[in-house]
Amino acid sequence: MGKATGFMELERENAVERDPLTRIKDWKEYSAPFSDEKMQRQGARCMDCGTPFCHIGMDIAGSTSGCPVYNLIPEWNDLVYKGKWKEALERLMKTNNFPEFTGRVCPAPCEGSCTVAISDPAVAIKNIERSIIDKGFENGWITPRIPEKRTGKTIAIVGSGPAGLAAADQLNQAGHSVTVYERSDRAGGLLMYGIPNMKLEKDVVQRRIDLLEEEGITFILNTEVGKDVTAEQLKEDYDSVILCIGSQVPRDLPIQGREYNGIHFAMDYLTNATKHLLDKTKTPNDSLNAKGKDVIIIGGGDTGADCVATAIRQGAKSVNQFAINPKLPIKRASTNEWPAYPQVFSLEYAHKEAKEKFGEDVRQYSIQTKAFITDGNDGVQALYTVDLETTQDEKGMISYEELSNTGEVWPTQLVIIAIGFVGPTQSILDQFGVKTERNRIDAEYGKFTTNVDGVFAAGDARRGQSLIVWAINEGREVAHAVDEYLMGKSKLPTVIAM
Ligand SMILES: Cc1cc2nc3c(=O)[nH]c(=O)nc-3n(C[C@H](O)[C@H](O)[C@H](O)COP(=O)(O)OP(=O)(O)OC[C@H]3O[C@@H](n4cnc5c(N)ncnc54)[C@H](O)[C@@H]3O)c2cc1C
Ligand code: SF4
Repeated sequence: MGKATGFMELERENAVERDPLTRIKDWKEYSAPFSDEKMQRQGARCMDCGTPFCHIGMDIAGSTSGCPVYNLIPEWNDLVYKGKWKEALERLMKTNNFPEFTGRVCPAPCEGSCTVAISDPAVAIKNIERSIIDKGFENGWITPRIPEKRTGKTIAIVGSGPAGLAAADQLNQAGHSVTVYERSDRAGGLLMYGIPNMKLEKDVVQRRIDLLEEEGITFILNTEVGKDVTAEQLKEDYDSVILCIGSQVPRDLPIQGREYNGIHFAMDYLTNATKHLLDKTKTPNDSLNAKGKDVIIIGGGDTGADCVATAIRQGAKSVNQFAINPKLPIKRASTNEWPAYPQVFSLEYAHKEAKEKFGEDVRQYSIQTKAFITDGNDGVQALYTVDLETTQDEKGMISYEELSNTGEVWPTQLVIIAIGFVGPTQSILDQFGVKTERNRIDAEYGKFTTNVDGVFAAGDARRGQSLIVWAINEGREVAHAVDEYLMGKSKLPTVIAM
């Protein structure tokens, strides 16, 4: 275990963050890994409690608690405390294919269920994870692992997000020949186009893809399955197909004036900003550029927060983010006890930046957009909102009521809709003949088989829009299922029976 009395002697230290007013002038990552000393101090705080909840991913009241890939957290905390970095890295790589992603952008449900967090701030698990893997790359300990034997079996994976990449990594290591099809010009899914550069730098994503390629995985980019290659062709050419196509069809807001120019979906906005950065084109698409504009982001979640941080960097005149829900409490409510994910107010990186830049939290709570108002030239000039009252019944069902005598007009020239996603693209599923259930691919967790023989599904396309760590979990698990399907048995790890 860490230091026996560490949790009593040592305080939690948070990741080092660059000054908000400095970092908004560039697109580099806003946080940095721990120094060795800090990492050891934080590892020492782990209690190695008898029954750790931090490494067991489960759903409690609709939120994730504990680590979905079952990271061996107390074990690597102890190794870090003892300065055994390489051994800590080995333990970490046993359960997580891509800790450099989760160590940067995972919301860390492990920390909400850390036993220290019953009474004190949790062990800084996420940043220890990032520090271990960053150290591994810095020291050249991460090298290509090229499988010694090939099985002769071929697998096509559609989609190169974290689910597709994790499945590809596992199946390649099992000796199968894996080809990943991706419709974008770069691999990575939402890791590449979605999550902004200041949260996860794109060369960190590309470094992993290059490594997977060196290990023998083939990536075919700019190729949309269902259009450039048919489902029939894939089924014919490969022994098995895995659909990891994400859940990227956006939820719309069909209210008065939705057709005006200047109203965009969050993914179009974020993708354009990252493409502009990576391709070094002179200006981003003008109508998707926040420079000098009053920007309103509709949607109170993390995607909306990423749009806030992006708009600030593009030089927006003002930014507001609307949420239909009320502000969260400072402390856990009695209905949200440990080890459930803490539903409490926090100032995330984007909101810290907005507060420093504009002098206040830019989130507006309990507010609903009712109509867009035109500038007379088919462009958006303002939008109209009303306030909401939220009530919760004894079963936890939330309902919203519009408050009479409220109503406000907000000037805006750029509106970003970030109210979630409805599911995967239907046309490719129709071509495969794969069934869906509530807009998700119908494939039972643990089996991952669809109604079509040899066609499997994993990640957001099966689960609904979720987290990177869940996508990695599903990628690893579907790999186990496909390996078993092809070979009769599988030595690939699985946590499902645990
Ligand atoms: C803006 C944003 C920010 C987020 N931030 C975080 C965060 O900070 N932390 C976190 O844990 N989670 C975050 N998430 C959620 C997380 O990114 C997803 O849960 C995760 O990426 C899902 O992985 P996936 O592999 O299932 O799908 P995706 O990452 O969506 O990848 C699917 C891929 O399939 C490709 N594809 C689809 N159809 C085809 C086709 N027909 N042919 C070829 N290719 C195809 C797509 O182009 C895409 O590359 C965020 C989501 C969004 C939208
Ligand atoms: S992957 Fe997420 S939940 Fe798991 S240890 Fe890392 S930060 Fe925690």
